[in-house]
Amino acid sequence: MSLSFDPDTLDLRRAHFIGGEYVADDAALELTRPSDQRPLGAVPVASAGTVDRAVETAARVQRASGWGRGQPRDRTRALHRWASLIDAHATELSQLEAVASTRLISQLPGIDVTVTSEQIRFFAELADKEGGALVPTSDDRLGMVLDEPYGVVAAITPWNFPISMAGWKLGPALAAGNAVVLKPSEMTPFATLRMAELSVEAGIPAGLVNVVLGDGPVTGTAMTGHPGIGKVSFTGSTLAGRAIMENIARAGVKPMTLELGGKSPQVVFADADLDLAARCIAGSIMFNAGQACVAGSRVIVAASVADELAARLVALMLPVNPGPGWLAETGYSPAISARQRDRIDQIVQSAITAGAEVVCGGVPMDMPGFFYQPTLLGGVDAANPAVTEEIFGPVLTLQTFTDEAEALALADHPTYGLAAGVFTRDLSRALRMTRAIQAGTVWVNRYGRSRDHILPTGGYKSSGIGKDLGREAYHANRRSKSVLIDI
Ligand code: NAD
Repeated sequence: MSLSFDPDTLDLRRAHFIGGEYVADDAALELTRPSDQRPLGAVPVASAGTVDRAVETAARVQRASGWGRGQPRDRTRALHRWASLIDAHATELSQLEAVASTRLISQLPGIDVTVTSEQIRFFAELADKEGGALVPTSDDRLGMVLDEPYGVVAAITPWNFPISMAGWKLGPALAAGNAVVLKPSEMTPFATLRMAELSVEAGIPAGLVNVVLGDGPVTGTAMTGHPGIGKVSFTGSTLAGRAIMENIARAGVKPMTLELGGKSPQVVFADADLDLAARCIAGSIMFNAGQACVAGSRVIVAASVADELAARLVALMLPVNPGPGWLAETGYSPAISARQRDRIDQIVQSAITAGAEVVCGGVPMDMPGFFYQPTLLGGVDAANPAVTEEIFGPVLTLQTFTDEAEALALADHPTYGLAAGVFTRDLSRALRMTRAIQAGTVWVNRYGRSRDHILPTGGYKSSGIGKDLGREAYHANRRSKSVLIDI
């Protein structure tokens, strides 16, 4: 059976999902399909009043259902049922994501949906295994640490991986006993809405997962500043993350997890397997046309093998079958919007003005949709805009080094520290680099995440605060209360 589908036949819900029901609202934001620029209809922008309603519903249901106080195993069972329903609806969820985002239907069911349901199962299993503790005290006292949910978590997700980002936020927050008000990106809300519906079908009390549609300035701001929100969990750009920190600080004090932007280096030593390195590097920047937070966009290579690596990269950086995400044969994605495509081009042109040489690409593609040629820029210094800016597009820069200290200095970005790659056959050097690089994730002789949700993920520096995934994400959705009882 072909995975291809007709995007005009999908049933797109364009309303908030609050308390287990769709809540209609005025249409406010027109959406466009990135692959062919056809209209996708308009979605509402939740006002502060609608956000209030969602937060109040979430808080009431979280208290009344006993979700956070009942048997943890009940949460485990419900979350397992939800994960199974997500798997059973893999095709439908993938189509709802592919129609509005830049992701490909050939990848979504087998990668994003499977990884998301597995993550939810991982967090489901933590619900009755991680918790409070008795602490050593004297005979006449009992000391305990109670472990409690926050109540209502506000989650805000970006457009580039709607299904898995929703899973990253909802899995640990629900397993830890919270209700959630989630705002997906205004550009890609459809799969998230269906995931919320499926949570109710799975027996998770209606009102524990609420989805409000809207933008950052109105809806997002109302959420992060809301007094009924116990914790904020955000994934998106560093710019928006800073605005959220300011807004939270204006409204009060609350914990936040921020998963932000990146400008990740891939360091290739002369002894590396160059075929492997080239495949990993090209794969990381071509995947979703570079629109991934961990895109390894800065190649830092030993000068003695730089030409060999560049030749291999050019051979791999071919946009095979660019096209709409809903055709099974499509192999290369567009930028999400005309604005994003133009931004990519603007940074590339400024990079060239600042001295960069175009090894390949460097121009938009002449076809419908917002496609950009995979681009490799050489001759850049550390101040070149293509090296300093998160481009969020299919653009690699190439810098050379002569020794390990120089490699490390180039790898260190003044702003970002999300991820890094190191390619070498020398284990001692790999370990030295791994320890020295300032990044939340370092991959050695590979690049990119696989089914490793047990590993926490998050950034150093301005790439973020706190972790998603792993046990850390579960604990980030709970807080401890110390109790001392005189017996
Ligand atoms: P974005 O920051 O423009 O938007 C992300 C989300 O935040 C959207 O839902 C948006 O409506 C909302 N938002 C924007 N301003 C806000 C504000 N002031 N208050 C509250 N909410 C606000 O990012 P994007 O274009 O959707 O996604 C791309 C960015 O996300 C890139 O920078 C990428 O690196 C980052 N990202 C990071 C990770 C990670 O794990 N670190 C994962 C995916 C994407």
